[in-house]
Amino acid sequence: MPTRIILKPRRARPFYARHPWLFAGAIDRIDGAPVNGDEVAVHAHDGQFIAWGLFNSNSQIRVRLYSWDQAQHLEPGFWKGRIDDAIRLRHEVLKLDDPHTACRLIFSEADGLSGLVVDRYADWLIMQLTSLALSHRQQVIVDHLAESLHPRGVYLRTERGVGEAEGLVLRDGPIWGETPEGPAEIVENELTFQIDLRTGQKTGFYLDQRDNRRAVRALALGRRALDVCCYTGGFSLNLARGGATEVVAVDVSATATALVEANAQRNGIGNVKVETADAFAFMDRLAAAGDRFGIIVLDPPRFARSRRSLEQAMGGYQRLNEAALKLLERDGILVTCSCSGQVSREDFAGVLNLAAEHSHRSIQILEQRGQAPDHPVSASCPETNYLKCLICRVV
Ligand code: SAH
Repeated sequence: MPTRIILKPRRARPFYARHPWLFAGAIDRIDGAPVNGDEVAVHAHDGQFIAWGLFNSNSQIRVRLYSWDQAQHLEPGFWKGRIDDAIRLRHEVLKLDDPHTACRLIFSEADGLSGLVVDRYADWLIMQLTSLALSHRQQVIVDHLAESLHPRGVYLRTERGVGEAEGLVLRDGPIWGETPEGPAEIVENELTFQIDLRTGQKTGFYLDQRDNRRAVRALALGRRALDVCCYTGGFSLNLARGGATEVVAVDVSATATALVEANAQRNGIGNVKVETADAFAFMDRLAAAGDRFGIIVLDPPRFARSRRSLEQAMGGYQRLNEAALKLLERDGILVTCSCSGQVSREDFAGVLNLAAEHSHRSIQILEQRGQAPDHPVSASCPETNYLKCLICRVV
């Protein structure tokens, strides 16, 4: 008999609707003595089967749900099938299969694989595990990825803070094939980027901005550009390639800005000026010097990590956008992003509304964009809809 997790009365609705996170507070009782990582059956209070999941007593997410078919257990074939579905979307449906490019192959909840992220950078795979139970199934996952994709190597990356939340002890390092020695090279929108697979931010590159970078490129011609929080130059290089007269790029990380220089050079781009500085201080300095730009991209890090920090985060977005408006010419283009899942599209539009008021400017939103489609949004899990990218004209 598998362990049965019985929910409290009236707590089953989100799980029938296939939300994959079952928090401890929704559980009435546990029939059995599951060990962390075990498969468990989740039942409504009336006894009705809902889904199969994996148990972890260390985590606030006590059970992650994966299969809503009672006949479909979480055995190796199940994981392989889910991985195949995810790869098929990227390589066959979205045609992101060029071996020189990069894409997100598996995006956790959005692919029915809560706790697993896999990115492909040309012929390297980077894997991120954020669930203890899935880490117990790491071998099956890695072997299947290697068999299906024949990468040069698979490298494991961990995210800060996740270990404690899940009771997960993992170390970054190679888990299959070769170990990446120097940076890898990928092509995105016909531009070449060097990726530090072992120590770069996230898994090395912000792949979710691919299509937004292309959209911004189409608006750059003849404009002086500012790329705020540029990381390794994803937007900067597209602005330059799109015909910006000059690109000023700023990031607080010196390792990131060093890569912007290298990436610009590698693509034969000579008009990107890079600064290593705090974005707020740098923009204040530019404003004091009377600098002006025709297009500004704001792509700050995730300001809100939890509901509690939401208010502070909104203040951060507000200050950043107002600082940008001071630097933006009349008829200028503002591209403003937020990758905080906690901040809704309405909240973010509210930030712009206030920024317009405080700056005495009119803001027209031309495009309301999100994450690239290899980072799909699961209809069952609104938390997967995290990236906002608004392209605006400012009068
Ligand atoms: N636009 C980038 C991704 C940006 S991610 C791209 O297209 O690839 C957010 C970046 O903000 C990170 O590179 C981080 O180093 C930087 N950052 C964080 N705090 C900052 C600050 N106070 N000032 C400037 N940059 C900052």
